[in-house]
Amino acid sequence: MISDERVAQAIKSEEERQQNVLELIPSENLASKAVREALASVFTNKYSEGYPHKRYYGGNEFVDVVEELAVERAKKLFGCEHANVQPYSGSPANLEVYAALLELGDKAMALSFSGGGHLTHGSPVNFSGRAYHFIHYSVDPETEQLDYDAIEALAKKEKPKLVLSGYTAYPRQIDFKRFAEIARAVNAYSMADIAHIAGLIAGGIHPSPFPFTDVVTTTTHKTLRGPRGAIIMCKEALAKKIDKAVFPGYQGGPHENVIAAKAVAFGEALKPEFKDYARQTVANAKELASGLQGHGFRLVSGGTDTHLMIIDLTDKDVTGKQAERALDAAGITVNANTIPFDKRKPWDPSGIRLGTPVLTTRGMKEKEMAGVALFIAKAVESIGDEAALNQIREQVKELCSRFPTE
Ligand SMILES: *Cc1c(COP(=O)(O)O)cnc(C)c1O
Repeated sequence: MISDERVAQAIKSEEERQQNVLELIPSENLASKAVREALASVFTNKYSEGYPHKRYYGGNEFVDVVEELAVERAKKLFGCEHANVQPYSGSPANLEVYAALLELGDKAMALSFSGGGHLTHGSPVNFSGRAYHFIHYSVDPETEQLDYDAIEALAKKEKPKLVLSGYTAYPRQIDFKRFAEIARAVNAYSMADIAHIAGLIAGGIHPSPFPFTDVVTTTTHKTLRGPRGAIIMCKEALAKKIDKAVFPGYQGGPHENVIAAKAVAFGEALKPEFKDYARQTVANAKELASGLQGHGFRLVSGGTDTHLMIIDLTDKDVTGKQAERALDAAGITVNANTIPFDKRKPWDPSGIRLGTPVLTTRGMKEKEMAGVALFIAKAVESIGDEAALNQIREQVKELCSRFPTE
């Protein structure tokens, strides 16, 4: 029980909000009670700088148990040679990899922000873009998908030291094997940032970056459904460099309560039920995508192979922010997002991004997705009509009541 009344009230309100809305932000999920219990455990009290059996502080015999469990399970889940489970979140994990493998000013290659790349992939507003010389490839303007031949040609011309794949707003499958070949051909490291699709890879519904890729980062709180945090996985030959870059290179004391929760989440992901969840997440996304197309929405790249999709609202004469606000009023949570080669600014771009992990975790299936597509279509048509949006909100609440959050 939390005795601080104002914080307790905010937590209660947030629980109700999560129960009563359709959460379609594709980077979110609902961590299990077991994961949340580990997060709230006494491991939050402990300093444990260093690695298992090589700590700079005493009293770490039980910390070592949970950290070794997390490492062992991560290796089994993803089939990698080495795992560092200490990164605080996805953004520091990426910067730690660059610090391990690159010198300041070195050239690296990644997807452009408007094509679906992440800010930590060399955006000028992020430290990665100031510290390293990022060259950006984009998606093909026609297909809005990766053009591997064009990426290979750019790599041969620019000769980067690192080739990065893995994205934050790309709805299609990624050919990690091809990326590793492109990197090898120019003597670069291959890196994959699987923050969004880690759960789909662990669940066997998206091809794995292993054994081809040199270094892989992932968040643990998106499709993987664990606590907020990240891990870095790599080939044994790079293990020392990566570990040194995480600590003492970037971080201090690891968050062992979060690491305990990562161990619990990896244990959950190793169970057969997790494969069903991953498969259902993608099946739901495909169903939602075709439902939206049936209501006249244009989807970037024409659909999805993953848990997420991007609606291009240009032909609806609606901006991403306007749609985000109307949907919010209707109890549907999404985020405004750029579309490839967007002519609008990132703060109010031309699209919205949505995905199915949370609805799938709540137990929704294909049958519910048709209804969700209809709610979205009605809400976008009802921009500015508060009464209509409120009416949708009541219907959304009714649907949500049949799928309780834990
Ligand atoms: C979410 C995301 C990150 C950043 O993770 P944070 O935990 O928010 O720092 C990095 N890369 C990609 C591709 C992401 O989608």
